[in-house]
Amino acid sequence: MRSKQTMIHLDRISPDPPKRWEKKGAKEKLSELHKELFKLQNKFFADGRHALLIILQGIDTAGKSGTIRHALMCMNPLGLRATSFGVPTTEEAKHDFLWRIFPHLPPKGMIHVFDRSHYEDILVPTVTKKITAAEREKRCELINTVEQHWVRSGIGVLKFYLHIDREEQKERIAARKKEPLKQWKYAKADNVGAKHWDQYRKAYELVLTNCNAVKWNIIPANKRWCRNYAVAKIVRDHLVGSKLKYPRSK
Ligand code: AMP
Ligand code: MG
Repeated sequence: MRSKQTMIHLDRISPDPPKRWEKKGAKEKLSELHKELFKLQNKFFADGRHALLIILQGIDTAGKSGTIRHALMCMNPLGLRATSFGVPTTEEAKHDFLWRIFPHLPPKGMIHVFDRSHYEDILVPTVTKKITAAEREKRCELINTVEQHWVRSGIGVLKFYLHIDREEQKERIAARKKEPLKQWKYAKADNVGAKHWDQYRKAYELVLTNCNAVKWNIIPANKRWCRNYAVAKIVRDHLVGSKLKYPRSK
């Protein structure tokens, strides 16, 4: 049993860019980071000793798929794979909640990105009151154990919570409603994200507090430029810290 965790209160964490950051500078730095990430991913693949799993979570419209496109898609698609997790299929629902996750874990040399993940199986049933607090605790403990196991077996795990506030979500939903190319997303975001805002925030606070054997990065995501730069920088720092080497030619 892990010791009692300090509760995370999202209202006390700003979703806006840190004071010193400004848009123009961050955008310039992001394009430098893209070049670096491209090279680092090549070395990561060649090195072949490590794998990397990037988990993106956040309330509807927080920018999970935007982060993949604008922060990470600079890497070679041959070494990068993205998977999104929706409502479990009939087959998936017959299994333990981690069953559908395992086939998507990255092998050595690869970087895999999850748009939603095993955390949905805590968040959604918490909001819809389909699990008890005791069952939720068990799932959190299991996730802590499993993620630590992944790390010990050579998979780096970077977890991001994309933090936006209610006003920003309202604006993004309004934009989805207006823009013809975004309208198909509207109904879902409106129903789930906005209607249950408070419940999702609470559920996220529980997850951020209790599932942190592998730490969470809480990203200020009200501004897309800030979110993209912050995520790309953490991924870059992780890859640099992996002390990658090109193998000798055979
Ligand atoms: P989207 O990311 O917009 O494609 O939406 C995916 C939807 O699937 C969201 O409403 C999620 O809450 C839902 N979803 C993902 N995983 C689960 C899960 N394990 N249980 C229930 N709903 C889920
Ligand atoms: Mg999405």
